[in-house]
Amino acid sequence: MDIGFVGLGGMGRAMALNLLRSGFAVRVWNRSPDAVQELAGEGARAVTTPAEAFRGDAVISMLADDAAVRAVVLESGALDSAPKGLIHVNMATISAQLAAELVEAHRARGLSYVAAPVFGRPDAAAAAKLQIIVAGNPAAVAKIQPLLEAMGQKVWPVGDEPERANVVKIAGNFMIASAIEAMGEASALVGAYGVEKAEFLDIMLNTLFAAPAYKVYGGLIAEERYEPAGFPLRLGLKDVRLALGAGDARNVPLPFGSVLRDGLLEGMAHGWSERDWSSLGEIAARRAGLDKPR
Ligand code: NAP
Repeated sequence: MDIGFVGLGGMGRAMALNLLRSGFAVRVWNRSPDAVQELAGEGARAVTTPAEAFRGDAVISMLADDAAVRAVVLESGALDSAPKGLIHVNMATISAQLAAELVEAHRARGLSYVAAPVFGRPDAAAAAKLQIIVAGNPAAVAKIQPLLEAMGQKVWPVGDEPERANVVKIAGNFMIASAIEAMGEASALVGAYGVEKAEFLDIMLNTLFAAPAYKVYGGLIAEERYEPAGFPLRLGLKDVRLALGAGDARNVPLPFGSVLRDGLLEGMAHGWSERDWSSLGEIAARRAGLDKPR
């Protein structure tokens, strides 16, 4: 299969590399050229415009957010010169609203649009162990299945309408953020009584909450290991805003979402945009005055 890949950030770089290792011919484009050169060194073909990546059988995009997808996919004109029948697989976490708009923009040009957002941080991407949630036209999904299998551990189909995959991803991240916040607040509570958070989390993560999301983020909070970020706070805030927006659009209240947004905003205000979003743990500790001697 002849494919393009746009968006070589923390996630995209590792995913494109796995496609190359699986034997696919990959044309790569990224806004900043360094990542393109790195992938070219691994056998990818470097291209200089998004339009050149939107050729062949399929193109995968792994851009940061709605604004990046609008700029690269819609405003660059890449769709206008794409060959009929091309399948665009968007693996970024974007809004359900933009997904619906993208379906229409592709359909109008005789192109297919598949949403395939992922669970798993850059280490899971590097190990080809992503959990991939996919939705779109079944024939298009079947065609790109080998690409997804080269990047992920398991592919979870959730229907024909791409926005469904996006809302599953957004809801999953909302649950992760809620878990981080709960661990941060509970750690602050025991901390105020002289119990070390590492000691407390060791008990919780090996008994009642022995699940992957708790273990990964509880471990980071226990060790205060917020840098380098696996998932930066700025993207976590983006995802919580996506959950609030998706709820807003269908009259679904998400009271926890407002708490999470304010906590993440507090982190942004303190200059922590590039720290891991598990910094919510430190924010809860500071709210309780645990950053100062008692
Ligand atoms: P990242 O490291 O910040 O990379 C973002 C990518 O988007 C880069 O290629 C960046 O280009 C590009 N980009 C941003 N704004 C742009 C613009 N205006 N025009 C053109 N390109 C633009 O993010 P990431 O961690 O790879 O995440 C990518 C997507 O996966 C996000 O939607 C994220 O929510 C989702 N995700 C991330 C994780 C994770 O743990 N990191 C896990 C699951 C899903 P430059 O290189 O030029 O900046």
